Amino acid sequence: MIPVTKPFLPPREDYERYLDGIWERTWLTNNGPLVNELELRLKDYLGVKHMLYVSNGTIALQLAIKALKLSGEIITTPFSYVATTTSIIWEGCQPVFVDILTDKLTIDPNLIEAAITDRTCAILATHVYGIPCEVEKIQQIANKHGLKVIYDGAHSFGVKIDGKSIFDYGDISTCSFHATKIFHTIEGGGVFTKDPELLKRMAYLRNFGHDGFERFNGIGINAKNSEFHAAMGLSLFPHLESIQTKKKEQASIYRKLLSGLKVVFPDLNEIESYNYAYFPVLFSTVEQLKASMTILDDNGIGSRRYFFPGLNSLDYTTGNCPVSDHISERILCLPLYHTLSQEEQRMIARLLLRVQNNSPK
Ligand SMILES: *Cc1c(COP(=O)(O)O)cnc(C)c1O
Repeated sequence: MIPVTKPFLPPREDYERYLDGIWERTWLTNNGPLVNELELRLKDYLGVKHMLYVSNGTIALQLAIKALKLSGEIITTPFSYVATTTSIIWEGCQPVFVDILTDKLTIDPNLIEAAITDRTCAILATHVYGIPCEVEKIQQIANKHGLKVIYDGAHSFGVKIDGKSIFDYGDISTCSFHATKIFHTIEGGGVFTKDPELLKRMAYLRNFGHDGFERFNGIGINAKNSEFHAAMGLSLFPHLESIQTKKKEQASIYRKLLSGLKVVFPDLNEIESYNYAYFPVLFSTVEQLKASMTILDDNGIGSRRYFFPGLNSLDYTTGNCPVSDHISERILCLPLYHTLSQEEQRMIARLLLRVQNNSPK
């Protein structure tokens, strides 16, 4: 069985070393020393000034929307994971979908202005597959219309734009540290901002609004994470570079093996410190995608339709996004994880080529 992804687990001893400290201190959660250490390590590793470690990437989005006190319409991308949209609705705002760029798969900045109304308060865009959004153009539009900008950076851990962390862009950026993501703490997430006031607000929001034991600063929620989760993240740091190297190598092997396949790979060439979080391939037809999924499945190989259906076509959403619709029904993510072998990659490629060669012209 070859899954579409496999979480990285550090050597058990590495994790257990952190457990000794937890047992000694009996400090399990509530902003403990390992949570603090993880935040420091992440800031250092990513080169960002501020970040808060939270319980997951979805609550990170919700904290961002809450901290910016958004209400009304939020312009967003139809091509992302469902949490991008549900966070908007969960926070009482309305998602307004703007179509994506054919090559980058991120929100098309040229279409944003036409979607702005007097109820628009913000833009929430995703660096999908770790491909950076057109951040400069988006910021210009936001400045012109007085809108806030949030980036869902769940896929973009470690990616840079002009030498700076991708999380430095927008009013707030978020990340997910879920087990399937490139850097993980089992469950977990982060919020990033350059604004110390926003950071402070999110710190209160993360912990019920507690301002000491007996005072409260506004209405908060529980978005804290535990020492056990932080320990997983800390145990991963020594392995991050080798995981990245491996995934980069695997992606280039796929490209070679699949060069005879009539598919399109997203263009990743100019992305700084790209993280190879996913390996998406865009088929020419839905039929080819479905036949490919079937043959992979028949051979015990996982693949996932990240991201289908488009977020503009859920039961509770609407929006006309032809580019996204057309891509989302034909795109498939192939297995990619640190222990995937070349032999397994060759088998996957053989199966995909077989589907193509057997299909009617
Ligand atoms: C994974 C993911 C999330 C949600 O993160 P969780 O940590 O699983 O809550 C949000 N947005 C995108 C684009 C994701 O891929």
